[in-house]
Amino acid sequence: MNHALLTIDDVPSKNTPAIVDYLLEKGIRAILFAQGDKIEQYYEEAIYALRRGMIVGNHSYAHRAFSSMTAEAGIEDIERCEALLDRLYRDAGVERRFRPFRFPYGDKGGRSKAELQEYLARRGFDKVDDTRLPYAWWRENGLHTDIDTFWTFDFEEYRLQYDQTFSYEAIREKMHSCSPKTGAALYGAGNRHILLLHAHDETDAVLPGYYRRFLDELLENGVIFDEPSFL
Ligand SMILES: [Zn+2]
Repeated sequence: MNHALLTIDDVPSKNTPAIVDYLLEKGIRAILFAQGDKIEQYYEEAIYALRRGMIVGNHSYAHRAFSSMTAEAGIEDIERCEALLDRLYRDAGVERRFRPFRFPYGDKGGRSKAELQEYLARRGFDKVDDTRLPYAWWRENGLHTDIDTFWTFDFEEYRLQYDQTFSYEAIREKMHSCSPKTGAALYGAGNRHILLLHAHDETDAVLPGYYRRFLDELLENGVIFDEPSFL
C-alpha cells in the first residue's frame, strides 16, 4: 500500500477555500505553505483553512529565491511571514502547534545553506517526519537532516499556466511513470511520498478543479493520505 503526505504551496489564494472543502470531503489533512504577501491579500481564505484543521506553514514573505539573497535578508523575509502567521493563528482562534517551513522553488540558499538550516533549527521550525521515506536519493542529498520540508513528487501542474508544450496528459504520464525525475514511482509498491501541489487560481482557470483530478486518481488507486507528523 502506498502512503502520501500532501503539501500545497503558494497558499492562500481565491481557490483555497474550495481546495480545503475538497480535502475535508476526502478526509485529507494537508500542510499548506503560505507566502506572506498572499496572506495579506487573502487573509480570510487563510483563516478558513486554519479553522478547518489544515496546518499552515511558512513559505517566506516575498517568495524570492534564497540563493539570490544574503542569509540575513532571507531570515528577515522568513520572520516577516512568521509574524503574519502568528497573527493569523491568533485571529483564527487556533493554537499554532507546528511550524513547518518550505523554501520557495526548493532553493535552500546556495552558499547560505548551512547558516539557514542552523537558523531554522534554532528558531524551532518543525521537521516533517521523513524517517520512513524509502528513497536512497533522499539521504544521499542530505535531505534527511534538513529542517525545511522538501518533496518527493511535484505534479508541476503550475506549468499548465504558461507552457504550451505541457498538458494534463503529461502530468498523468509522470504520475504513472516508473521513474519520474525524482527517482520514485508514485504507484510503486510500498512507496511513500511527500506530494507537492500549488494553490494557483491561474491553474484553476486553465484546468478547473485541477487538484481534484490528481488527488481523486491517487485515492482511486488506493493511496493512503497520512496525517502530517513531525520529528
Ligand atoms: Zn512556492
